[in-house]
Formats: sequence, C-alpha cells, structure tokens
Amino acid sequence: MPERAPSAGRAEGRDLTRLSAMLMELDDLLVTCMRCGFCMAVCPVYGATMKESDVTRGKLALLNNLAHNLIRDAGSVNDKLNRCLLCGSCQANCPSGVKIMDIYLRARSIVTGYLGLSPAKKLIFRGILRRPGLFNALLALSGSLQGLFLREASKYAGTCRAPLLSPFIGDRHIPRLASTPFHSSRPYLDTPSGKSGLRVAFFPGCLSDKIFPEVAEASIKALQKHGVGIFMPAGQACCGIPALASGERASYDDLLRHNLRLFTGRNFDYLLTPCGTCTATIKEFWPKTQERRGEEEKTQILELSSKTLDISAFLVDVLKVELPPAGTGGRTVTYHDSCHLKKSLGVSEQPRRILKSLPGFNFKEMPEADRCCGSGGSFTLSHYDLSTDIGKRKRDNIVSVEAETVAAGCPACMLQIKDMLSRSGDKVEVRHVMELYAATMY
Ligand code: SF4
Ligand code: SF4
Repeated sequence: MPERAPSAGRAEGRDLTRLSAMLMELDDLLVTCMRCGFCMAVCPVYGATMKESDVTRGKLALLNNLAHNLIRDAGSVNDKLNRCLLCGSCQANCPSGVKIMDIYLRARSIVTGYLGLSPAKKLIFRGILRRPGLFNALLALSGSLQGLFLREASKYAGTCRAPLLSPFIGDRHIPRLASTPFHSSRPYLDTPSGKSGLRVAFFPGCLSDKIFPEVAEASIKALQKHGVGIFMPAGQACCGIPALASGERASYDDLLRHNLRLFTGRNFDYLLTPCGTCTATIKEFWPKTQERRGEEEKTQILELSSKTLDISAFLVDVLKVELPPAGTGGRTVTYHDSCHLKKSLGVSEQPRRILKSLPGFNFKEMPEADRCCGSGGSFTLSHYDLSTDIGKRKRDNIVSVEAETVAAGCPACMLQIKDMLSRSGDKVEVRHVMELYAATMY
C-alpha cells in the first residue's frame, strides 16, 4: 500500500542549520554525475516503467535542486525517491564512480527529517523495532494467532495467503512465521574454537530468526562441523536497514548501538551472518553513517565492520573448506545473486562454488542471475505491483533453466522469490545456500 507522505510543516525536530549542512554535503556527492545514462540499462525499476524519473540520472536531477523541490512539493520528492530498491546496480555500473547509495541514504534522511515519519513507520520503528524484546513478543503472539488469518496457498512452496491483511500486503504468498524462532531454540552460544582455530560471532538477522530459523540452524551446524567456535549473544536487534532506508536515523542509530554493545569487547575473529542484507548493512553502511558519533564509537564500528563477512565467503575464502566438484546428475539447482551480496560485497563465486560441490545436485546458471528480484525491503510493501513486475522476470529466468531448486544467500530475496514462484504455481523449491550445504554434513 503506497505510504501517504505527511504534509510539510508537521516535521519534528526540524533544524535548518543541520538541514542546510546536509544539503551541502549532498551537493558535493552529486557533482560527480556526468549524466551519461549508463545506469539506465541496469536499473530494474526503470526496466519495468521506462520512466526517466525512476532511474538514477532522473533521481539525481531531482536531488540537484532538493531544497527548492522540497519547498515546492515535498510529498512528490518523497514518492520519487522511494521508487528505488536500493539494489546498488546503478552504482556498480556507474563509470564515474558516483556514490549513489550514499546519496540516496542521505537524501532519504533529509526528506524524512523535513517531512517527519508517517504514523505507521513511527509505530514500527520507534515503537517496536527499537525494542527487541517487544518485537519478539509481538511476533510470537502473531505466530500463535497466524492460523486464524492465513490460508494455504501452496503446499509445495510452504506459502499462505492472508486475505485479511490484503490492504497491507496485497495478494502476496508468504511463509508462516516460525513456530519456534531461532532465538527461542538457541538464545545464546559461547563455544571455544575447535580444529579450525577460529571463533566467530554469529548474527542471524531478523528473517532467519523469525521466518527461516532453518537457515540459522544450518549455519550453526556447518560452523560446528568445521570446528569453528561461536559467540552468539542473546537479545540481538535488527541491523537497522529498514530504518536507515526510510531515512529514520534515530531508530537506526539506536539499533546499531544496541548491537554494537553486544559484540564489542568480545573475543572473536569474524562476525558472520547468513543474510546478504545484514552483512552489507554492518560492513558497508554502518561505517558510512558516522555523523554524530564519538571517536570511540567510530572505532568500535570500524573494528566490527572490518570483521564482518557473509558466511559462504567465510567458508570458501577463510576456512577454505574442501569442495570437490559434484557429478552432473541429480536435482537442477540455480543461484540468485542477492544485490547486497554481489553488488555491495562482491560475493558471487563463493556460493556458486559451494553449490557446484553438492552431491545430488546439478548446478545450472540462470540468465540474469544478478538482476534484482524486486524485493528491496520495504519497497515490496510500498510498491507491490512494481515489485511484482520486477520479480516476474526473476521467476521467468529461474523457470527457463528448468531449475528444481533455486538457492540464495539472503532471506529477503528468498521471501520475494517464494512469492513469485508460488503465485505462478511453479514447483521450484527456494533454499538458502547454507541449508543445502549443511544437509550434506553428517
Ligand atoms: S551512470 Fe553514473 S554518471 Fe552516468 S548518469 Fe548514472 S549516476 Fe550519473
Ligand atoms: S538502486 Fe537499483 S532500483 Fe534504485 S535507481 Fe539504482 S539500479 Fe535503480
């Protein structure tokens, strides 16, 4: 459901001095755009709408006159800016090296600061997400009541429809909330390093915790089998990306600090997550949002982000696990590159190496494997029709190679791909790379 922009003038904490400083910083980033238009060919939103205002070049033109445009029609600026998946495809293909993600995140922060948060986002970010205990309790309550409003959509895909929630989620096919979230079955872990000599901290992320606990369990199993010690503190919160992407810096800062306190000063070699989005947030975005931080906090963030790795990259690049080439028979598995994993972190070969080693599977590359699936976090909620248009292309690519399994390294992509396949009635299972890998270990 499109979010109604609150009217200008009701902003909270508006600070003109700070606003003008932020606008000047934004201007400095914008001057590097040469308006070449190379970003058009790779933008999934532009690919679906063919509107100049949806591609980076068009958005940057809008931001070039941001102060003027905000005064003229702030709601329209907000709408145009939010028609973006933050997939990073434009940045990865920009010959001028424009820091597009930095620009978008700063611009969203300015616009949200000017307009104020919508009541719904205020409730979600400030009322719920910032309180991990309450968030967990609400999800547990929803989980116990979900049978009342979920109707099975596809037994094969494990998805349901939620007609009563259609004003919020449309006709989306969704998996059930986990009956036992990962944090309930494993609230805490603190084990010494084994034969690997390494110890890692583990950050499952919200989706692996609350919807796909099997992904987190598979990750723990693989690490333990390889003799890796694990530190996993209780009470972890969201990495903050939904708040950051919505320009809600106060909630984002709170979540970042909460998690930072849990991990700082503990003894581990790497921080691992099985979620491409969480990995990119902690590794890439946390160090880039350092305004208003003290030196000690900056140092702690840099230390943690430098240790942060995607779990498949850890297994292949650090642990150098043995991955013998598999045979050519068995189930056909293909791989979807999460934008955050490939475009933000350069993780692309590692999950493929794992998949190509799996006994009983035959790896087949799909066309446009690194094209965005259309999820984009809250984008899929606020622009579901557009998200579906983009997602259908992913579905067609998966089906074109007659895949029986599609693997991904980001639970957010898994949700979107499950929805696309389930709505088309396709019998293709969606699994995380770690689930498939851990299933081969006894
Ligand atoms: S590719 Fe880069 S330089 Fe070219 S128009 Fe897009 S953002 Fe600007
Ligand atoms: S981040 Fe992705 S969706 Fe947004 S403008 Fe760039 S390519 Fe398009």
